[in-house]
Amino acid sequence: MDVAAAPLFDIVLRNCHVIDPSQNWNGTAAIGIHDGTIAAFAVDLDPALGRRVIDAAGTFVSPGWIDLHGHWYEAGLYGINAELGLNHGVTTAVDAGTAGFANFPAFHDTAITRSRAQILAFVHISCLGLHATFAEELLNLAYARPEETAIILDRFPGATAGVKVRIGSMTASHGNQAFDLALSSARMAKKPLMVHISAGADEKYILRSLRPGDILTHCFHGNQSRMFEAETGDLVPEARAARERGVIFDIGHGCGSFSWGSAQRAFEHDFQPDTISTDLHRYSIEPPWNVTMPEVLSKFLTLGMSLKDVIAKATLAPAKALGRPRIGTLAIGTVADLVQFRLVEGEFLFTDSAQQTRLGAHRIEPILCIRKGIPYHPGDIQRPLRPLYPCDEAIFPPRRA
Ligand SMILES: [Zn+2]
Repeated sequence: MDVAAAPLFDIVLRNCHVIDPSQNWNGTAAIGIHDGTIAAFAVDLDPALGRRVIDAAGTFVSPGWIDLHGHWYEAGLYGINAELGLNHGVTTAVDAGTAGFANFPAFHDTAITRSRAQILAFVHISCLGLHATFAEELLNLAYARPEETAIILDRFPGATAGVKVRIGSMTASHGNQAFDLALSSARMAKKPLMVHISAGADEKYILRSLRPGDILTHCFHGNQSRMFEAETGDLVPEARAARERGVIFDIGHGCGSFSWGSAQRAFEHDFQPDTISTDLHRYSIEPPWNVTMPEVLSKFLTLGMSLKDVIAKATLAPAKALGRPRIGTLAIGTVADLVQFRLVEGEFLFTDSAQQTRLGAHRIEPILCIRKGIPYHPGDIQRPLRPLYPCDEAIFPPRRA
């Protein structure tokens, strides 16, 4: 046997168009995967080097997508299983505060350490996270626990990313106090704060207070957002100043937080999001929203963003926001998390969270997701969703059999 031709890699992907913003690569390349790691990255590799060879001509490959905002703790009403993302190219699922300090250890032991997807988590400033849709987490400010939240971030540095708070109807009239408590916890832990804005939030106060590296999610929601000047439609000066300081603007599409109108206005004023995320949860995964990462990414192609930029906002940018340069990259020696997809041309109707539609000319369709060197095809992962209850009618009418 010719030793030189013996397979060196478990998988070789060849002839694909690789977009890896972390390495400033946007062109043909081949990738060798071995033992769950990116073992080779070159213009081409000899197919004899692969135990399995994937000829990926006509398709794209990027680092596995990092969904910076979703809900992956199934012991809460919002949570779904993070492995579902492997059907859609998401290799790192970031939990946006589904658990608080009291239930985070259980989230860690039952999901984070067991999931085939990587889960990182923002810990909610409210002790039990997103516990109920009908009596939300900070109607009573006594649930906000800065010190305990910071202790959890210290105890679980590998699994946590920062502190989460939602400001809007869920904080009644004490939104700014709730925000201050969450920010104080993030300061204690020396970690980023992710703040959700929705109707009722004091956006200007929040934007003035956020530090470099803090994340504002639902940046283009359409519910009385005060991110925009009423007269000109331009971003308020506080938003531009926050961007200048290094505050990160995240999408968090969900059921109610992405508006074509807001996004269009922002784009017209040269203000694009830093990161593109789904806010995927028990509700937004269902019709009429049907949120998935590739669908949300495709909407930004429809807004005129380049494919390279869209991919950067789902790989390099969220990795930076998380302070984890070893993910969101295809650099040799990093974990073999990647997605192969095609860019389909046609006429596609995309809806925002208020069911407004826009016609797009391209749709991103995942073909294969590789997480830690293991391949998953769309539909491979089947995880039942929790049953619906009468209280879920607050979000949508249940479709009981
Ligand atoms: Zn959310």
